[in-house]
Amino acid sequence: MIDTAEPDAAPRARYRPSHIAGDARRLSERQRELVALAAALGPRFAERAARHDREASFPAENYEELRQSGLLAICVPESHGGLGAGFETYMLVAAELGRWCGSTALSFNMHAQSSLWAGVVADALDMTPEQRADHERLRTRHFERIVRGGWINAHPFSEGGAAAAGAAPFGTVAHRVDGGYRVSGTKIFASLAGVADGYSVLCTLEHPGQAAGGTLRDALYLAVPADAPGVSVWGDWDPLGMRATVSRNLRFEDVFVPEDARLLPEGLCYQAARRFPHMFSTLSTTYLGIAQAAYDFTVQYLRAELPGMPPVKRRMYPTKQFAVAEMRVKLEAMRALFLQTAREARIDPDQDARMRLYAAHYTVMEHANELCRLAIRTCGGQSMLKSLPLERLYRDSRCGSLMLPWTAELCIDRLGRECLYEDGECDEAIES
Ligand SMILES: Cc1cc2nc3c(=O)[nH]c(=O)nc-3n(C[C@H](O)[C@H](O)[C@H](O)COP(=O)(O)OP(=O)(O)OC[C@H]3O[C@@H](n4cnc5c(N)ncnc54)[C@H](O)[C@@H]3O)c2cc1C
Repeated sequence: MIDTAEPDAAPRARYRPSHIAGDARRLSERQRELVALAAALGPRFAERAARHDREASFPAENYEELRQSGLLAICVPESHGGLGAGFETYMLVAAELGRWCGSTALSFNMHAQSSLWAGVVADALDMTPEQRADHERLRTRHFERIVRGGWINAHPFSEGGAAAAGAAPFGTVAHRVDGGYRVSGTKIFASLAGVADGYSVLCTLEHPGQAAGGTLRDALYLAVPADAPGVSVWGDWDPLGMRATVSRNLRFEDVFVPEDARLLPEGLCYQAARRFPHMFSTLSTTYLGIAQAAYDFTVQYLRAELPGMPPVKRRMYPTKQFAVAEMRVKLEAMRALFLQTAREARIDPDQDARMRLYAAHYTVMEHANELCRLAIRTCGGQSMLKSLPLERLYRDSRCGSLMLPWTAELCIDRLGRECLYEDGECDEAIES
């Protein structure tokens, strides 16, 4: 075998980080444009990240820039004044944000949820003509608040029990009253708590005469204004990572929510969650971005190209080369699966596509942390100082695989089941 690499060829000036999609030529012009819009904000986000991480404070300046750039309305359809990104485009743009500030990207993903569920997902769902017309009217109001009012929306679904994993009805309940609903309950880990203008709350609609607590099919999605009487934020926020997401707890005490705050028609939330599982993989965007950032950091560090560091190259040691190769293998695997599943997203994916999706989500979440671990071991002692971003990337990356509904454990659980059972198959109970 002849090695065609030319060791003596003129050196490239400096390392140039690759596009978040790897080969940007495969993207549409619009996709490249929107990723570039996010990339242009990135360096300022990165500059602010250390302070917000240290203080566990909300990066308000980043959100002001997201608002100015139009990115707050990234998933609002163009017909409603937004940037009109579809699912795949959103995934790329969100991953690019993750490269610069994990916390901003993660909370931004929560913000984007209501536009996606009420937008691209709702468009793909079965609705009666009346439901469709009603949904169009209500989402127009919601989108207007984002496009014209610059609203930031949180997406609280976690309650500390099985509901966030999709295994039980939400404990936060809604009752129908004149002109709307009354909502009561508690949510934990609500990114953007206290800074969002609205909380896109998942709850259970209780029907009169039925057993309290309802069923999974009674899930309801409501945009609750943050200043509605009865809404409060509580609890401390001093976590290991993702500190600038400010994911405190929320309480809803008999909050009146007008009927026009419905983000999906009654009864369709369950259908949406069942039929469009790719939506749950949007959380992985942040972690692909973090992995890319950790890889870029490592290459620049070993090439002695990091600003402010002594110009001591470390790239000539075979052990460093092995480690960085291992990181690259993981990064390419993550990216390939991420892109493929982002492109495959659609209503009612077949079993094969669902299994690939669990594998992709698991791979991104687990590899992101593994890549950061390798980066610290490879770059060495100086690289983990708080004056550099790597230790923050490491802490932030740890959070991905514990996020519901698809923790790493649950991905493996679902994947294992689907590997061994075809759609609709089950075993009879085994008598002991
Ligand atoms: C930085 C960060 C930001 C977050 N932001 C948000 C946000 O904006 N909105 C939001 O809603 N959440 C958010 N979360 C919460 C996240 O999605 C999870 O809900 C949370 O991490 C779960 O924590 P837990 O300790 O309750 O999980 P666990 O105890 O692992 O799970 C909670 C419950 O789910 C059930 N469960 C777990 N595994 C299984 C299983 N295999 N089968 C069936 N049921 C199971 C169990 O009843 C379990 O007690 C955030 C989390 C982090 C770390």
